[in-house]
Amino acid sequence: MLVYNSQTHRKEELKPIEEGKIRMYVCGPTVYDQIHIGNARTFLSFDVIRRYLTYKGYQVTFAQNLTDVDDKIINRANEEGRTAAEVAEEYSNAFIEQMHRFGVLDPDIRPRATREIEAMQEMISLLIERGFAYAADNGDVYFSVRSDHDYGVLSGRDLDQLRAGERVEVNDEKRDPFDFALWKAAKPGEPSWPSPWGEGRPGWHTECCAMIHRYLGTPIDIHGGGQDLVFPHHENETAQAMCAWGAPLANVWMHTGMLRVNGDKMSKSLGNFFTLKEVLDKYPADAVRLLMLQTHYRSALDFQTDQLDGAVGTLDRLSTCVKNLRWAAKNAPQDGELSEADRTLGAAIDKAHGDFVAQMDDDFNTSGGLAAIFSLVTAANKYLADAADNIATAPTLRAAYMIVELADVLGIDLSKAGAEEELPAGLVDLARQYAGFDGDDANAAAGALIQARQEARAAKDWSRADAIRDGIGALGLVLEDTAAGARLRMAD
Ligand SMILES: [Zn+2]
Repeated sequence: MLVYNSQTHRKEELKPIEEGKIRMYVCGPTVYDQIHIGNARTFLSFDVIRRYLTYKGYQVTFAQNLTDVDDKIINRANEEGRTAAEVAEEYSNAFIEQMHRFGVLDPDIRPRATREIEAMQEMISLLIERGFAYAADNGDVYFSVRSDHDYGVLSGRDLDQLRAGERVEVNDEKRDPFDFALWKAAKPGEPSWPSPWGEGRPGWHTECCAMIHRYLGTPIDIHGGGQDLVFPHHENETAQAMCAWGAPLANVWMHTGMLRVNGDKMSKSLGNFFTLKEVLDKYPADAVRLLMLQTHYRSALDFQTDQLDGAVGTLDRLSTCVKNLRWAAKNAPQDGELSEADRTLGAAIDKAHGDFVAQMDDDFNTSGGLAAIFSLVTAANKYLADAADNIATAPTLRAAYMIVELADVLGIDLSKAGAEEELPAGLVDLARQYAGFDGDDANAAAGALIQARQEARAAKDWSRADAIRDGIGALGLVLEDTAAGARLRMAD
């Protein structure tokens, strides 16, 4: 399978370092606030990448940090009269909660920067020992970019270019303006730890690098993050790894495209700034997921909020198709010879699977993957309408399973759509009342009620038809008219 490597700017065949295994790391959030949907898009993209690698049979080890010590956390704590640890704890929990709501799988390893100080100090000592870092008089420790001849290898920029183009913070303690802090001397009131260079805290670029080395070993197979992390964060990470351990940090670097909202860069002043929580409070997570996955992870995504309702409808089309297939399979007569329609559906299932894998093998093309799923939905709906009274169980169930399986790779959970629903016993009483029913099986009662309502409608006895529908509704069910006939489903 092909994966785009942002270091080489081309798609490369994925070659795991250890056969059958993938070790990957994605930079986690700095926990000082709710995450916005731009960050959420990055985490969603890597969730799907991880799910697909697992689907392909790789044993994936996925690590993601929480940056729980940082200027932004300290500033917020000072503003609110709390400790930095309290702020970090609140937003670490908030982040994990929102990721769960969004259906993003937990990482296998979730290190927190404040608990990994020792590993960071070890790496800094090694860099100083090897002549790639120096302690300044004020207690800061800096990485010396001039001593690293490969500096700029990831972002493809050399120091002269950088000096001409980038603005950097002027600081008398640094030997070169592009030197970056590995360790920051403590200021009054800040969280700090003892170190050979005095009280202080780690620099951001140092955290990830030391944690990756400790938990996954370097190099790893895939290192990911948002495009805005290429420089300086990832450049600085890989520089440290090269100089400390003599190997790059990662074989493949993957970066997600930026997210705009309603055509503009997201900003609080434009009123188009949304946190993930705000969006998930209003829309089902899977609809948001579906909308985001319609754009390739590397492309810029213009998140149009007025498309969310459409995404809800699209999601509904998926789950309704699965429910209808399951319902039809349940009520199908025993299988006989496969018909022409059965064979056509069978071919559509195989093609959808093949197309899905081909699209996802091509640098995780989720929009192509979705198109493959929807081509199967179209074929399945046509089968249900055409085959009508002649539904065969096997291809019908297989179509349902395939849609559920492929959607699951994208993190869209259809497993409960129409699956083995226990019908409420109250249906039996209702059927006795309205359908002259005298059995005690809820499934049979459901069939009798559907028929009784159809008869009432045919006789233009609307109040009776409505009473049946309302009675069904009171039991937590919905009577739904579909192309393949009326059916009951659980209310959402
Ligand atoms: Zn990082």
